[in-house]
Amino acid sequence: MITSIAFLSFGALVKGQQVKDYAVQPVAFTRVKLTDNFWEPKIQVNAKVTIPYILDKCRKTGRVDNFLKASQTTGGDAASEFPFDDTDLYKVIEGASYSLQIRPDKMLESQLDTLIAIIGAAQEPDGYLYTFRTMHSAHPHPWIGTRRWENEEILSHELYNAGHLYESAVAHYQATGKRSLLNVALKNADLLIKTFGYGKETKYPGHQIVEIGLVKLYRVTGEKKYLDLAKFFLDIRGPKGDAYNQADKRVADQHEAEGHAVRAAYMYTGMADVAALTGDATYLKAIDDIWDDVVNKKLYVTGGIGATGNGEAFGEAYDLPNMSAYAETCAAIGNVYWNSRMFLLHGDARYIDVLERTLYNGLLSGISLSGNRFFYPNPLASMGQHLRSAWFSCACCITNMTRFLPSVPGYVYAQNGDNLYVNLFMSNTAGIKLHSGAVTITQQTDYPWDGKIALTVDPASSFPWELHIRIPGWSRGQAVPGDLYHFAGYKASVIPITVNGQPIAYDTQKGYAIIRRHWKKGDKVVIDLPMPVEKVMANERVKADLGKFAFQKGPVVYCLEGPDYADSTVQSIVVDTSAAITADYKDTLLNGITMLATKGYSSARQPKSDQVITRDAQVKAIPYYAWNNRGSCEMEVWIPYEASAARPKPAPTIASGSTVSASLHNKRMLSALNDQYDPVDSKDNSALYLHWWPKKDSKEWVQYDFNGEFTVSSSKVYWFDDGPWGGCRVPKSWKLYYKKDGQWVEVNNTSAYGTEKDKYNKVTFDPVKTTALRLELQLPADNSSGIHEWIVE
Ligand SMILES: [Zn+2]
Repeated sequence: MITSIAFLSFGALVKGQQVKDYAVQPVAFTRVKLTDNFWEPKIQVNAKVTIPYILDKCRKTGRVDNFLKASQTTGGDAASEFPFDDTDLYKVIEGASYSLQIRPDKMLESQLDTLIAIIGAAQEPDGYLYTFRTMHSAHPHPWIGTRRWENEEILSHELYNAGHLYESAVAHYQATGKRSLLNVALKNADLLIKTFGYGKETKYPGHQIVEIGLVKLYRVTGEKKYLDLAKFFLDIRGPKGDAYNQADKRVADQHEAEGHAVRAAYMYTGMADVAALTGDATYLKAIDDIWDDVVNKKLYVTGGIGATGNGEAFGEAYDLPNMSAYAETCAAIGNVYWNSRMFLLHGDARYIDVLERTLYNGLLSGISLSGNRFFYPNPLASMGQHLRSAWFSCACCITNMTRFLPSVPGYVYAQNGDNLYVNLFMSNTAGIKLHSGAVTITQQTDYPWDGKIALTVDPASSFPWELHIRIPGWSRGQAVPGDLYHFAGYKASVIPITVNGQPIAYDTQKGYAIIRRHWKKGDKVVIDLPMPVEKVMANERVKADLGKFAFQKGPVVYCLEGPDYADSTVQSIVVDTSAAITADYKDTLLNGITMLATKGYSSARQPKSDQVITRDAQVKAIPYYAWNNRGSCEMEVWIPYEASAARPKPAPTIASGSTVSASLHNKRMLSALNDQYDPVDSKDNSALYLHWWPKKDSKEWVQYDFNGEFTVSSSKVYWFDDGPWGGCRVPKSWKLYYKKDGQWVEVNNTSAYGTEKDKYNKVTFDPVKTTALRLELQLPADNSSGIHEWIVE
């Protein structure tokens, strides 16, 4: 095991040069041995369940075959769907390598050796490695172009693959000391050096990450050419490309977050790395401004980023819809990478505040407690249409989670000279080299359920040094840096710190309590962060959160989830703001969580009245990250405290009492027809709707079988239409039929069958007494159709 070549200051590697780097240096995760009850079990599940599961999936889904084909042992067409599928293998090797550093495993190590040999065999003699081209398929993927790099700026992902290869290779080298994958990576990187540069190929990466990978190669080899190429790839972006991949402006001229959120977060991370290593002030100014833009206007309370599925992108300022929130798992991971770098640049705890919010909420939600079910988007509300998936054909989020989790201990500590930073709280023992000597530090805590943290130090020799303990923003009444969220009714309290049992006075700088001492073996520091349940309020410009608040206790954001309610509905709940909130640890629920409880009421519509009826309700909340581990269900993070913000339960109507069927079989979609949710407009995708996409030009139907015989004479339909970008339009035509003696008979309509957008289309007909109604529609020639709501009167 070569654990000494971690990402510590690597000045020694570049002999005789004064090397710039981050002011603060992280303490590598290999030096931090977790003993806690929260993260350690999750990292165990990653090692025992997720990594073997993903390795198997990579084999079964053709991702390994692609390399075999490229090495011409089998030949033929690509065995999987996307040209970036190579990265899934790289990422699982990276995760497995991290895991090996903590848990040596000969079997796993030899599996990696085999895979690396397969990867190496697929590399072309000059270092090029991209299976989708090298396999010389008879049916080349349309994204890859006819020549190398031709489509790099848009779709080919050749440099994206390279970036993940480099990260994986460095991880494998550091874990095992073997150069096998590192040699493959360096050969590939040297081809990039030969190919790209001023006066040579000047294409920028279509999907960033090669910048981060090249910086890692620089750190491990000390060869500046890799850092220079990383900077080149950033400097040549813009101004003539698309905002989608942050190429519409030069990177130094970018001051707001825009476009594809994962690409963006990787780019900002790469810019921070390059800024730290070169001292480029223009990069620094750009990412400082972008960070302000994100935390003040574009960050979910869960730490997720990238509000819209349209381009997997950042939305407009304050546009943070909940049910349709995209908040991709990869973007959350990218947000952690980026904020960790921002901290290393500035030594300010506010970046760790954002990192921690993301880590415990919008990132951790990406994986099931079982370790083998995954979210790609991480919505903040659900009507039951969301369910974790065993796999995605675009598996980026799955393999990203696999590689990220084992590295969590690497975010706990950092150091700068003789200053030791304690950033995150989880029980562990760590060996840290400060400028003047080594220190062992032991942390004991039940975080995130309890805010009491005990730190015991054991310096190898006697010298004065400073302990910087992060005082989280949430414990100081600051939900986030900036004014996007705040705590309602926050009560300030003193945060006591004792040293060897004696209360001490301490200074606070940049969010850290600073204690300077001539520390002795066994010195014990105890900090007790008050952890009341806070009510988070959003800036009123966030329309989606009006009349609602979110519960937060410590770093954990909560949600209401269906299984904790007798009728499985939570959208109808309104919380009583004056009621007390209790917090109880339940060790058998969801692998052990603190559950919140308070009082409120649920509301329900009644037929032919605007008055809702209300009923007292016990309100229970679970940590957001743990939702959707009990099947698909209703969920909401933002909880109404005003009745107008709730969604009352449907009134009993002919439609709500009917059994729904259709020419498609999706229970959740069928339930959309009679959920009595009036959409904002036809393209409103924040709620459930039924659609036939990708079918087009066919005849389809939906049907209500009533729970009795009724006389009906009118019906209203609200069409789903997400044009011009989506694939659904109003239907070409439609008709209604009623059941008579077991046969479908067309109603005698007395008004037209409307197909207008953004409103109910009402049709009247001669009254019929029947037990069922059927709506038949003709899809447009070139599009599909969908229905938000279907009412029968
Ligand atoms: Zn992803």
